[in-house]
Amino acid sequence: MSLTRDASGLLRLGGVDLADLVSRVGTPSYVYDIDAIAAEARALRLAFDDAVHLVAYAVKANSAGPIVRGLAAEGCGADVVSGGELLVAMGCGIPPDRIVFSGVAKTDDEIDRAIHAGERGILALQIESIEELHRIEARARASARRAQIAIRVNPAVEKEAVGTHAHVTTGHDEAKFGVARDDVPAALSLANRAKHLDLIGISVHVGSQLTSTDAYVAAGRIVFDLARVARERGASLQFVGTGGGFGIDYGEGCAVKPADFVRAVRAEQRAFGLEALSLHVEPGRSLVAAHGVLLAQVIQTKRAPHGADTPERAWLVIDAGMNDLLRPALYQARHRIVPVEASRRDLRAYRVVGPVCESADDFGEHPDLADSGFVAILDAGAYGYTMASRYNGRALPAEVFVQDGRIVAVAEREAPDAWVEGRLRVVER
Ligand code: PLP
Repeated sequence: MSLTRDASGLLRLGGVDLADLVSRVGTPSYVYDIDAIAAEARALRLAFDDAVHLVAYAVKANSAGPIVRGLAAEGCGADVVSGGELLVAMGCGIPPDRIVFSGVAKTDDEIDRAIHAGERGILALQIESIEELHRIEARARASARRAQIAIRVNPAVEKEAVGTHAHVTTGHDEAKFGVARDDVPAALSLANRAKHLDLIGISVHVGSQLTSTDAYVAAGRIVFDLARVARERGASLQFVGTGGGFGIDYGEGCAVKPADFVRAVRAEQRAFGLEALSLHVEPGRSLVAAHGVLLAQVIQTKRAPHGADTPERAWLVIDAGMNDLLRPALYQARHRIVPVEASRRDLRAYRVVGPVCESADDFGEHPDLADSGFVAILDAGAYGYTMASRYNGRALPAEVFVQDGRIVAVAEREAPDAWVEGRLRVVER
């Protein structure tokens, strides 16, 4: 983690004093350490040794320009799931031939953009159904182009075997994602016959925040087995993809590092005799989560008296809510929260809640917080701002980017009036 508290008690991210930063930028504000994110990508790429590979950053985790540009400079590609993310990835300098496009509902317009990106289109549209294969073939035929595709397989691994929250488990047979394993032979035959498609990869993604390599490697084996079948049937594959999902330590431990997933799955790839194929991984969270914090201001405390059977309740009400950081409400995720100013002596436990009118707007119980000042919500670099909304008429938070020990870019908090104007605007027809 790039967060430190020095001997004088100052909380710093990437060397920048957060108390000073908050006085200049205000709250709620996300702060990211660009250098630490780049170092994370470098460490992951080292795990491939000299094997041909692609780290396709899952842009959904954090699509801020300075972050995606930094990862592009480290040689990362991108895994995108919308036309908007495709534009961000290319606008940040990721070449189309390092971009894969996942998602179950690619629109015709998005398919066209992918096919027409650069001179030869993006590296691969990862198909998630046989129906989609037909649609991509039709769009490619209509523009007299060829489209490169990969089959994203649904490996039907048990939800429980993945060992993560049900909402981020994507490779079980009730999930909408991927081509069912039993349908892959049919997809292979169709791809083989399609005049405007080139099948170049087989991939999988079983889920997010994995804290063991078991399910990841099991899904990898399914991909490698299918890749062998595809090659026997004449497909000129270029890659096998084993997805993202590498877990991070949100404070409750995570025994495995992102590089452990890569090493474990590479060993299987070799065992299948497929080492000539490029190995693709699609990490999002593990590159960015630990290198971002969400800063918030304490608005007030609130106490409810205790009765004979009820303990006293002490809430700390802060100015960041579930509209700024949705993960606790959506996944019952827990983020550590610490005071920004260390000089406080009046620390105690509080239940931290936000301003949104939902009981789910609750960041949980945290020890050692003060009744005023600022707090930092840790490990908020992934699935934070990208999931933020204007719910309850709240403005989107600020974003601050730190590099070389200083602030290098700021996206100010949206003006509250922007929401009002949006709601009042009426388009006459
Ligand atoms: N690849 C695909 C297809 C995904 O759906 C996701 C996350 O939902 C990812 C990669 C990234 O997962 P993570 O951020 O857990 O690494």
